[in-house]
Amino acid sequence: MRLDIVSRDAHTVSRRQLSENALKVLYRLSKSGYKAYLVGGGVRDILLGMEPKDFDVVTNATPEEIKKLFRNSRLVGRRFRLAHIVFGRDVIEVATFRGHHGESNDNISKSNAEGRLLRDNVYGEIDEDAERRDFTINALYYDISDYSIRSYGGGINDIEARVIKLIGDPDKRYREDPVRMLRAVRFATKLDMTIEPVTAAPIKELAPLLTDIPAARMYEEVLKLFFAGKAQANYNMMQDYGLFKPLFPQIAALIEEQPAGNTAKMLDAVMASTDLRVQQDKPVTPAFFYAALLWYPLKQRADDIALESGLSHYDAHVAAMGDVMEQQCRTISIPRRFSTPAKDIWQLQLRLERSQGTRAFKLLEHPKFRAAYDLLLLRGEAEAGNIGKIATWWKSFVEADETQRPEIAKSSNSKSPSRNRNANQRKRRRPSKPKTDSTPTSKPDTQG
Ligand code: ATP
Ligand code: MG
Repeated sequence: MRLDIVSRDAHTVSRRQLSENALKVLYRLSKSGYKAYLVGGGVRDILLGMEPKDFDVVTNATPEEIKKLFRNSRLVGRRFRLAHIVFGRDVIEVATFRGHHGESNDNISKSNAEGRLLRDNVYGEIDEDAERRDFTINALYYDISDYSIRSYGGGINDIEARVIKLIGDPDKRYREDPVRMLRAVRFATKLDMTIEPVTAAPIKELAPLLTDIPAARMYEEVLKLFFAGKAQANYNMMQDYGLFKPLFPQIAALIEEQPAGNTAKMLDAVMASTDLRVQQDKPVTPAFFYAALLWYPLKQRADDIALESGLSHYDAHVAAMGDVMEQQCRTISIPRRFSTPAKDIWQLQLRLERSQGTRAFKLLEHPKFRAAYDLLLLRGEAEAGNIGKIATWWKSFVEADETQRPEIAKSSNSKSPSRNRNANQRKRRRPSKPKTDSTPTSKPDTQG
């Protein structure tokens, strides 16, 4: 593979742009007689004038040698064994150069029938390590011993030309690790680059391979795709390349049925609002994200269950929540700390739909009210008709001054159809008085 060595005076990466901890690790390795390089995203982002998200280091020291050198280290990973050097909340990842696979045994290197690498722990030299990296723009090594950059496969030129180019044969490299298809998309949008045609060509055909990726790994990848300010762009590109369907089959099915229907509109609205929140430094949470994304699949499933089983609207809705979440978790595992509040948000939709009036005060106090209300607003955008009216009512209620709220509640109470069987019983209850100090609107805006 082509190698360019760019000397210190011919590039823009300086030590000042590295974190103190990354420098510590690099120097410790180097002073102990090992080779040590900053690699990948750290070098790439600095060259592009961006601030790196994290710093990755590679060395010819083995994980055991790294472990001996750093008291604050721990060895992690099975598929890729590497060391984490821990500085409080900051972690520097240190990997040993990967080598060619040759005739090694299953303990260090292993693939499945489709060519997917299950284990990759053969160590080698830097040029072999470079061949095992995904894209040329990531095969950049900043050498701490002389501050030069080693660029493999033309990476330094591709940074300049802003193209994403896979190293080696694209078909083979995607089969080894289908997540590289998602990474191509993510880097294209994050770095404002184009995917080179040869690199883009096999994606549509190989996209279904993503279903084989362990759901736990997909969870992390999905966060990187949708919670870094480029959700809309990544979503559009994933749809174009057929990468969305294998990850979100229930959603994709509804969009295929009605390309301009509620589900499609909801997806656009969620992506746009997630990007806006990231841009405004507001918190984003997988609980809200998945609740919103899966709302229409949930409705559909609830309707089906009601039809098949004769369960009430409410009971069918609750049964469908479990089904839909379980289905989604087959491709992307969603930790319980997010799936549980997502279900709360779903359940609250039913209450929001029928609680305009004095019962609205009670709902305001629910810990998931804000998130549920946000979803209701997105539903109002995605579908016209009744939900739009309900969303508008809630908006006026939530945004109103506390002194105006009782008026709004009263005026709507008389009009709202009493669909509730327990209406009589409810009437006797007094609406709880709104708290003066901490109503949800005065809380920090959070969807959590
Ligand atoms: P970012 O941190 O912004 O997501 P990054 O390029 O640093 O981008 P990491 O996931 O941190 O991405 O990986 C660090 C480096 O490891 C990459 O730059 C790349 O060289 C290599 N790498 C990561 N994932 C893969 C993969 N699936 N296949 C081959 N090489 C990879
Ligand atoms: Mg990184």
